[in-house]
Amino acid sequence: MEDCLFCKIIAGEIPSNKVYEDALCYAFYDIAPQAPTHFLVVPKKHISGVSEICEENAAVVAHIFSVISKVTKELGLASYRVVSNCGEDAGQTVFHLHFHVLGGARLADGMC
Ligand code: AMP
Ligand code: ZN
Repeated sequence: MEDCLFCKIIAGEIPSNKVYEDALCYAFYDIAPQAPTHFLVVPKKHISGVSEICEENAAVVAHIFSVISKVTKELGLASYRVVSNCGEDAGQTVFHLHFHVLGGARLADGMC
């Protein structure tokens, strides 16, 4: 989608620090980490947020969670938090569905 920051990152038009990539999703480190390890996992196909998940596109969400399970193991993260903000009042600033993965320390309440 035009003018979507994460679509541009997926397309390689904006640089990112890649953690993982496959045909369906892309994972990269957050530019402003809130924990020692903080990365984002996004579907390659633009979905604006959790509120746009439906029966037709939900399979990618299950896939993303399987990727999170695999990548966190590879990174040695035994404990971590997965967060997705939906809507401005919830703190969403980039309107392309993304899952924050935070770990590497005892996490304070309310991160992300
Ligand atoms: P949210 O506020 O939940 O929509 O999350 C958006 C996240 O994207 C924030 O944690 C930002 O720090 C992160 N972010 C914004 N721009 C970039 C970028 N160019 N590369 C990596 N992460 C970014
Ligand atoms: Zn997008």
